[in-house]
Amino acid sequence: MAQTIRTTCPYCGVGCGVLATLQADSTVKIAGDPEHPANRGRLCSKGSALGETLSLSGRLLHPEIGGRQSGWDEALDLVASTFRKTIAEHGPEAVAIYGSGQLLTEDYYVANKLMKGFIGSANIDTNSRLCMASSVAGHKRAFGSDTVPGNYEDLELADLIVLVGSNLSWCHPVLYQRIIAAKATRPSMKVVLVDPRRTTTADQADLHIAIRPDGDTALFVGLLRSLAERGALDPEFIAASTNGFGAALDIARDWTPDRVSEATGISIRDLAVFYDLFAAKPRTVTVFSQGVNQSATGTDKVNAIINCHLATGRIGLPGMGPFSVTGQPNAMGGREVGGLANMLAAHMDFDPVSVDRVRRFWRAANIAEKPGLKAVELFKAVADGRIRALWIMATNPVDSMPEADAVRAAIRACPFVVVSDMNATTDTAVEAHVRLPAAGWGEKNGTVTNSERRISRQRPFLPMPGETRPDWWIVTEVARRMGYGDAFPYASASEIFAEHVALSGFENAGTRDFDLSGLTGVGYDDLQPVQWPVRARGTARMFVNGRFFTPDGRARFVPVLPPPPIVTPPGMLVLNTGRVRDHWHTMTRTGKVARLSAHLAEPFAEIHPDDAASLGIRHASLVLLENSRGQVLVRALVTSRQQQGSVFVPMHWSGQFSGAARIDVLLGDQVDPHSGQPALKMGSVSASPALARRYGFSISRHRPMLDGAEYWATAECAGGWRTEFAFINEAAEPEDWIKTAFAAHGAGETLHLKDTAAGRLSMAGFTGSRLHYAAFLAPDPVLVSRQWAVELLGQDIAPASRADLLAGRPGSDRPDAGPMICACFGIGANQIAASVRAGCHSVDAIGSALKAGTNCGSCRPEIRRLIEDAVSVPTS
Ligand code: SF4
Repeated sequence: MAQTIRTTCPYCGVGCGVLATLQADSTVKIAGDPEHPANRGRLCSKGSALGETLSLSGRLLHPEIGGRQSGWDEALDLVASTFRKTIAEHGPEAVAIYGSGQLLTEDYYVANKLMKGFIGSANIDTNSRLCMASSVAGHKRAFGSDTVPGNYEDLELADLIVLVGSNLSWCHPVLYQRIIAAKATRPSMKVVLVDPRRTTTADQADLHIAIRPDGDTALFVGLLRSLAERGALDPEFIAASTNGFGAALDIARDWTPDRVSEATGISIRDLAVFYDLFAAKPRTVTVFSQGVNQSATGTDKVNAIINCHLATGRIGLPGMGPFSVTGQPNAMGGREVGGLANMLAAHMDFDPVSVDRVRRFWRAANIAEKPGLKAVELFKAVADGRIRALWIMATNPVDSMPEADAVRAAIRACPFVVVSDMNATTDTAVEAHVRLPAAGWGEKNGTVTNSERRISRQRPFLPMPGETRPDWWIVTEVARRMGYGDAFPYASASEIFAEHVALSGFENAGTRDFDLSGLTGVGYDDLQPVQWPVRARGTARMFVNGRFFTPDGRARFVPVLPPPPIVTPPGMLVLNTGRVRDHWHTMTRTGKVARLSAHLAEPFAEIHPDDAASLGIRHASLVLLENSRGQVLVRALVTSRQQQGSVFVPMHWSGQFSGAARIDVLLGDQVDPHSGQPALKMGSVSASPALARRYGFSISRHRPMLDGAEYWATAECAGGWRTEFAFINEAAEPEDWIKTAFAAHGAGETLHLKDTAAGRLSMAGFTGSRLHYAAFLAPDPVLVSRQWAVELLGQDIAPASRADLLAGRPGSDRPDAGPMICACFGIGANQIAASVRAGCHSVDAIGSALKAGTNCGSCRPEIRRLIEDAVSVPTS
């Protein structure tokens, strides 16, 4: 009988429990774990599709040196000897590790211990620096510790939820669904969204505040003033549990509604509605994520929010508190072990007492005594030769770091680069001198911590393929070869976790927030999802007693001054980057899943209609974004949901999936001065129409050769690939180009349909009646239904239907489902529109008719939008 394994989703910081069952046909059935407190059986579209990410295509299965397969011993010896030699010749600051929120806590722990404890440098940083470092800095300034106070259940207990810079419906879908479910049972509960864009999260919000980019600090400083004016402060809490209120209020007094309105672009009326709501609803949770953190003033934004919660005593109690939600599955675990360059270990810093404590615990004579280089500084040190040996673990900085082309150049110039990763062909892995094959999700064993401080197990249910090994094993083997074997005796992840638990409690006695002592001796294999602080019973909420981890036990108000408004040079737009619903990071996993790619199959730029009109950019044409750092070419998505003066581009498309859409190429090195977090939502670009001479769309069983097309974006689909392409400077004869692009499909029968006067060409290749590829070229964006065409791939096409195929015209026997909306059940926009016309005027009615939106629920906001666009009746 098939065995079901309890594990945890490897995507976002919600940390949903997953049930994985290996089926007789070797596929893996995925379901939400009904007993996991984070999701209670729910999964979003990404989590639901995890079973489809487990193929070995693209996996790195053997160690490689200089592109040739090697044995583990040879590769590990080379890494250890090169790091030792570099340290001997240039000092410990000449080596670095760049890790990832995808690592498990045990992996992170040994990497941090090796670097800070034994190499003697703190040059270990992580892609979590890009995600939530400003929240860490803000927490520490206010609380004296990096502590997330609340729990997910607070989102259901609150009377007011304020979402700041957070597209929760796409980026943390299960939390969003928990809120919506709670709101349905308690209509008095209100949701306010603060976001420059009208995202799908706005659809269920009672108030959407379309704030100017970076206006958040002014909004919350103004809120502090309004709370004082409205008599909504908690003087007892302020007096008993805080310091610095007077200084914070002194700044706030100057931020009248008029001034806040001017700084934020929010109307006086909307400000009053928001401020009234906040004053009237003691049970308030303020959720914030990347829209707050990824800013040059992210830490101040965090403290402006926390100040309002401290001033009203709304912290440490049910249904209230500031709540940072993390992007990655184990960003919190990385913080716990000290995976950031400015943290030592177990939430301890580089103060002399902590350094001495960790030195004694690790028996590490050579421990680092000062912070290392944060991500942006770290890659600059690679670029200028200060760092000469770099180990990148489970991340893709060539695409995800700002100044991405400069980062790639730095990695190329670095004398020695090691990449340990699941994937062989990321834009970073292909640059490495040594590639070490890491085990992936479903194969690894360890723990992760989610945004509410809940530690869950990731358990293996598949054998490790090829010669892959867990990251902790790889680091441990290198540490031993560097001569530190006594400190790295580990034979299993459980031994590392036990040491991590012991360090958290070492000389703690309640003086530090992070203490897992309650897990001492608890069986690792059977470890149930558990929050810290670990309590035998009751709720693991923090700051319940109004005491904080500052020297005097009082929280600190941080007087923050709103920054001047962002001023873009004439003709430039503010560049905002972020995520889409169905993709994750640089698509190394979700890019394998056809139904996830079907939702948004190519990179795009959301631009306001007025900006588009003034710049001559048409919807669905190509738009060139550029600045002094480079150029990006993406599809124009003209929408009034975007704010005028700004442009949004998703961060997912790497060089593996697109010709010129690595958006981080255009972002600069501006960072928050306190956290070192890059301002990934504050770029500056010009936008102009990219006049393509010819546009193309194809479906094909093999990935096409796209040389010569200046624009292309390709995605896996059922049975092959769907590809968009365009030619700016058409050099090749179209027919010749198509023959070359699809040459891998063999020399079967090829059909043409050519309209020379209109400049249209269609070609399709068959073997017998089986369709291998079809390509459509036109002087305008190709209008062929993508979903219809994809469904034809690999099918038998009767001779009588081939003319319809070449004309791009769905036959009556194959209705066009339209763009994919529900990834779980493969329901397209045209099917939903037809159901609306047939009388389904609510999301639930659509669900009953088509099942759309009834599984993970991630598409429900989009279904609601389609209904609202089609009819003018209220929806539910
Ligand atoms: S919300 Fe989705 S992506 Fe995030 S942990 Fe849950 S299933 Fe995974």
